Amino acid sequence: MNTEKYKQLIAEIKPFIAKLIAVSKTKPAEDILQFYNIGQKIFGENKVQEMVSKYEALPKDIEWHLIGHLQTNKVKFIAPFVSMVHSVDSLKLLQEINTHAKKNNRIIDCLLQIFIADEETKFGLSKEELLQLLSSKEFSLLKNIRICGLMGMATNIDDEKKISNEFSQLKKLFDVVKQKYFSSESSFKELSIGMSSDYKIALQHGATLIRVGSIIFGER
Ligand SMILES: *Cc1c(COP(=O)(O)O)cnc(C)c1O
Repeated sequence: MNTEKYKQLIAEIKPFIAKLIAVSKTKPAEDILQFYNIGQKIFGENKVQEMVSKYEALPKDIEWHLIGHLQTNKVKFIAPFVSMVHSVDSLKLLQEINTHAKKNNRIIDCLLQIFIADEETKFGLSKEELLQLLSSKEFSLLKNIRICGLMGMATNIDDEKKISNEFSQLKKLFDVVKQKYFSSESSFKELSIGMSSDYKIALQHGATLIRVGSIIFGER
């Protein structure tokens, strides 16, 4: 844990519109509480079970963001409390989130995860799949989810130009999608890009949510 680094980071992002998602995966509840006590209210987790345990153990005004791949059969466990799901990568998953949001009498905020990296391991929709999803009849029927924007992960590489290029492509896609499908919806405004290694680049490309873990919580 590094609260000095946390304070530096908060100061660093202040001139930008971005909010910090403190990525607490694998870290104990006590560490989360220390950041909570100095003002951090949004935390990101990538595993459903871990997020549920932490939700149960920690203050109820924490906003929990699911940032990792979500399996449809696990949606029901987080539907009562999750603030935002960043990692929606199929219509099927979106339908499942909608079903459980409805059961819980709420609307769940979602981001569509877009594949921008040059790696086979990363999840996400292609540009074509995204447009197809948003144009579909099935999508238009979903009333208990709200699409708040797009999420992406850049290639895990030490090449600033390449990362910059990937983020800028996603920002362009965001602008196109905003104009075409969400021009009258003020809630479509989030661009979730940037992690410990590349958040500075993400801020330059219009990130509104940065997901930072290891530089504040320590290595996992
Ligand atoms: C783990 C993770 C992060 C944070 O990574 P750090 O390098 O620790 O900052 C961000 N986004 C996703 C999707 C992650 O799984």
